Amino acid sequence: METFCKNLPKIELHAHLNGSLSESTLKQLQRIKNVDNDDISNFKFDHSKSTSECFAVFKIAQALTDTPDAVKLATSLTLQEFNDDGVLYMELRSTPRRNPKMTKVQYIQSMVDAIIDTSNLIEMKTCVLTSIDRRNTVEEAEETIIATIEMAKKYPHIIVGIDFSGDPHIGIFGDFTKILDTSRCAGLKVTVHAAEIPNEKETLEILEWKPDRLGHVTYNSERNAGSKHLWNAILKSQIPIELCLTSNVKCGTVKSYADHHFKQFFEAKHPISLATDDKGVFGSTLSEEYDICAKTFDLSEEQLWNISYNAISQIFANDDIKQNLSSKLIEFKNNNFKSMT
Ligand code: 5GP
Repeated sequence: METFCKNLPKIELHAHLNGSLSESTLKQLQRIKNVDNDDISNFKFDHSKSTSECFAVFKIAQALTDTPDAVKLATSLTLQEFNDDGVLYMELRSTPRRNPKMTKVQYIQSMVDAIIDTSNLIEMKTCVLTSIDRRNTVEEAEETIIATIEMAKKYPHIIVGIDFSGDPHIGIFGDFTKILDTSRCAGLKVTVHAAEIPNEKETLEILEWKPDRLGHVTYNSERNAGSKHLWNAILKSQIPIELCLTSNVKCGTVKSYADHHFKQFFEAKHPISLATDDKGVFGSTLSEEYDICAKTFDLSEEQLWNISYNAISQIFANDDIKQNLSSKLIEFKNNNFKSMT
């Protein structure tokens, strides 16, 4: 199963750049910056931590990606790693930062440059989502959206959407809807982290706003601090959900893999994809996520293929890219499952 999961062409729709940095990438960035401290030994989780501890570790990587060159290098190395793991298409998200050494536009440009420079070297196709951090102000979110719209005009095939993320204990989704509407009017898709903590009121508001995709959706039903009404509203919405098994287990929002809400959404035939979230922090590749899912929920290779194939319809890139991914997945199926119809 492990080899199958590695070889299966996969679609990664929920990966945060700074949470995805591997130890070797962090070390390279440290060398370039001439930094010598053992901060990075605290980056990867060996055991479950609280959500607040999870959010604190991102600062370790962000301190190393504080110039356009560092953002570009971090992006290039990360793309290479996802490609080597058999990812065929990914949407890489990151919160553009402004500091005395770079503007938000330069931050986004660095990610785009890395994607363009590696495009001839790797098979994987990459698009960018910029993240709004809900801990920050609406004015800061506005700045990010203006920068994203400007860059999306220049690189419409690379910059395809906005992600709403950050510590769910801080900030109110409703405060950001107007500014998210602006990005939608400019043709950008939107994915929203939802129900990472029990907050039915906010989750219902998010559903009402109708994002193009949702992340996590952990506290979703009577079974886990939600209600039947909430569960029915999520299913009725048919909004695709990005599920990150290891991330949820390691952050302690889900007790064990067997308890993961993958099972309920899968059985309900709700559109889902599997994702890593922060492969550097949680130490799990996308192949490993497929393998864990298969072993925990007794899935066949055909069912895993279906998860990957169905994720194509959930991507934010255009129909040509969808068509191309579809052909590659079908070719893989024809070569690997002679008996599949
Ligand atoms: P960056 O945006 O700097 O590339 O990646 C790290 C950031 O992504 C974190 O500071 C946080 O805002 C966001 N992030 C990463 N993982 C999660 C997660 O599991 N949930 C939420 N809500 N935000 C996350």
